[in-house]
Amino acid sequence: MPEEYLKYLQSLNDRQREASCYDISVPLMIVAGPGSGKTSTMVGRVFMLLNEGISPSNILAMTFTTAAASEMRDRIGAVAGKATAKELTISTFHSFSLQLCRSHAEKLGRTSEFLIYGHGQQRKATIEAVRLLENEKSRQNHNACILGEGSNSITSLQHLKDKSRKWLKFVTKAKASGRTPEECRQMGDDIGAVVLGNYNDILKSCNALDYHDLISCSVKLLTDFPEVFKECRDLWKAMVIDEFQDTSSMQYNLLRILASHNHITIVGDDDQSIFSFNGADISGFDSFRKDFPNYKEIRLNKNYRSTRCIVEAASSLIQNNINRCQLKDVITDNSSGSKITIKECHNEDSQCAFVVDKILETASNGSAASCSYGNIAILYRRQVSGKVFQMAFRERKVPFNIHGVAFYRKKVVKAIIAMLRTALPACDDAPYRQVFKALLPFEKEEKKRVIDHIDKISTIRKCSFVSAASDIFSAKISGTFKRSQLTQGRKVLSTLEIVSKLVHREQSISAVITSVANMVPQKYLLEQRAIVDVDGGKLLNEDNDIRSVLQYLLDDVSEFLSTKFIAAEGASKTVAEEKGCVIVLKAFIDFISERERENFHSRRHNNENSVTLTTIHQSKGLEWDVVFIVKANESEIPLLHEFNGISKENGTLIEEERRLLYVAMTRARKRLFILYVMMDSNWQMLQPSRFLKEIPDHLREVQAEVSIQDLQTKQEHIPIETMEFSIDLPREKELSKVDMVPDDFLKSSNYKASEEWKEPVEASNGNGFLRRFSVEDR
Ligand code: ATP
Ligand code: MG
Repeated sequence: MPEEYLKYLQSLNDRQREASCYDISVPLMIVAGPGSGKTSTMVGRVFMLLNEGISPSNILAMTFTTAAASEMRDRIGAVAGKATAKELTISTFHSFSLQLCRSHAEKLGRTSEFLIYGHGQQRKATIEAVRLLENEKSRQNHNACILGEGSNSITSLQHLKDKSRKWLKFVTKAKASGRTPEECRQMGDDIGAVVLGNYNDILKSCNALDYHDLISCSVKLLTDFPEVFKECRDLWKAMVIDEFQDTSSMQYNLLRILASHNHITIVGDDDQSIFSFNGADISGFDSFRKDFPNYKEIRLNKNYRSTRCIVEAASSLIQNNINRCQLKDVITDNSSGSKITIKECHNEDSQCAFVVDKILETASNGSAASCSYGNIAILYRRQVSGKVFQMAFRERKVPFNIHGVAFYRKKVVKAIIAMLRTALPACDDAPYRQVFKALLPFEKEEKKRVIDHIDKISTIRKCSFVSAASDIFSAKISGTFKRSQLTQGRKVLSTLEIVSKLVHREQSISAVITSVANMVPQKYLLEQRAIVDVDGGKLLNEDNDIRSVLQYLLDDVSEFLSTKFIAAEGASKTVAEEKGCVIVLKAFIDFISERERENFHSRRHNNENSVTLTTIHQSKGLEWDVVFIVKANESEIPLLHEFNGISKENGTLIEEERRLLYVAMTRARKRLFILYVMMDSNWQMLQPSRFLKEIPDHLREVQAEVSIQDLQTKQEHIPIETMEFSIDLPREKELSKVDMVPDDFLKSSNYKASEEWKEPVEASNGNGFLRRFSVEDR
């Protein structure tokens, strides 16, 4: 065995080594709690497979998120060398199935450029499927009441939308479990069979597949086409699957078929199952035991990642779940470490200020406890909670990276910006080229031919890209283009004319951006969405929806107007808008090009020296020294959906939400902060997450947010360890005078200041400064 593999295996504990080196022809199941070295053991297993003569190109490793995939590649690369790591296939289920389906698309009745339908398109297809059903019903009844077309279409559309909500749930469930229309019929559900059949036909006629199709079609390819099965069996001689608890029953089917050689290792922890909305089903462990009867199960129980305090707190939390199929005793030899800080904050601004201060303090104090930005993460339930941190980090020059695709690097966003740029004076060729790429409704190859031809003409005639394009498409130059290409080219040019008119006539940049965003063709959105969704996992869905993209852009416009532009021009918001869209737009584009660069900068320094901002779902399998879980409120964790006014609160859901917090807490190595806010931006009171009470008192330190006034007016002494206060000071007040305020207060109380004043920062309302200080019991 190569020395480096041996060294790696020797660094593992006995049980981990036993698992890694176990006979590779025996199906292996490794079950263990967080931080116990499951992924490390799986990496050891890969070295064992390589050592047994299996080529890296014949090994398939499956993980759940792209972040986890790149983490695993890094870990393997660090020992086996980057070249070997590159040869391995380390993939998510979706990208694996997507590749398989694209290679054999014709067998699925699609072309290899098929589209992938996300939630929005699935909904539309369901409405259409139900409409076909209704039409068929009324035709059969011979009593269709023919109304005026306008009113008919409005009422029936609303009616269909209402109905299709129920049907969408039905279709999604049927697809998730791989049910066919025929099976529905056999179960006595004739109407369901028709809707599902219609839905499938619609997707087929649109050359599309939805997410569940990707998996079920992969299974179909492997079962119905022996040549595909043979190709895969010859290629994938061994498989290792991390985070097995998150596989759905269909994904499990795929694995089972692929693993006919028995060279399969699965690794998981049922307590970390957090993707049930995606069909994740922990009964996969039982199926594995049944389908691979000669399996060997190995359990690991020592946590190497976290301090004892974090391990114990997380264990206490998860013990409140009743439905646990594999009880695990997690122990650790690590030191007990600091207590978990539970911090109450007035609102998201003060939460953000606390976190940023703590980060600056931790990253710069130079003590043994200090750590670099790369060892710090902020975890939240929903992407939107990260935005306030991005703004604060930019302002206070803290490098950060966001998991997922950076906003201004998304092709859809780039297309919108390029369209806007063409309306500005002295626009160069690049944005025009980008716009043609986005707006021409052709397949990749055809698009490229058209754009290359425009480029060629512009070089020959020494003119700009756009004038070459307008000469070609107005048929001033006889060319080789087909009629459809000429028509579509002219359409792009007239769209750009409209954009230009909007920019020159409209006063409001927000209105212009809204109109332009709506001009991006659906087909282009779908293409881009598909790529990002599959790569980054389904969770990025909302992020790529055009409405979310637009909202994000408009938020940035508003921030730009109220900060940079007005500050630089010394003008009010109305004056800024009145300056005319061209000027404002130009400044806005400069503003975002800066942002784009910052993203690039922070992405380049990913993990090395930038704070990570990520959703909890995307943080699976990863770890940091210091972790802040923010907005741990009811309505976030647990996030309870309401359908038709009925809260979906039930035991199963709550247990999954508890697992989500469990996953988040167990990402921390040394220090864990859990924060919640008391009020949302509309001054609505919010409750802390119910799960916080489940963390035992002796493992946590609670920092309440109490105002100075509260303390002054309360007669009794509130016992505290440390408490931090913020006060808003009018801008005109001399800071030195203000220093007296807490002294006055402190003299008449039983508290003493525990820290120096902190540097003032701008108050969130823009009217003054915010100063913070801490006090503790005398
Ligand atoms: P999760 O459930 O969160 O995915 P995991 O079980 O996959 O966690 P790993 O990520 O493999 O755990 O390991 C957690 C940490 O413990 C890593 O930093 C790893 O390097 C370290 N570790 C694992 N095994 C050992 C060991 N035998 N000795 C020292 N450190 C170890
Ligand atoms: Mg892991």
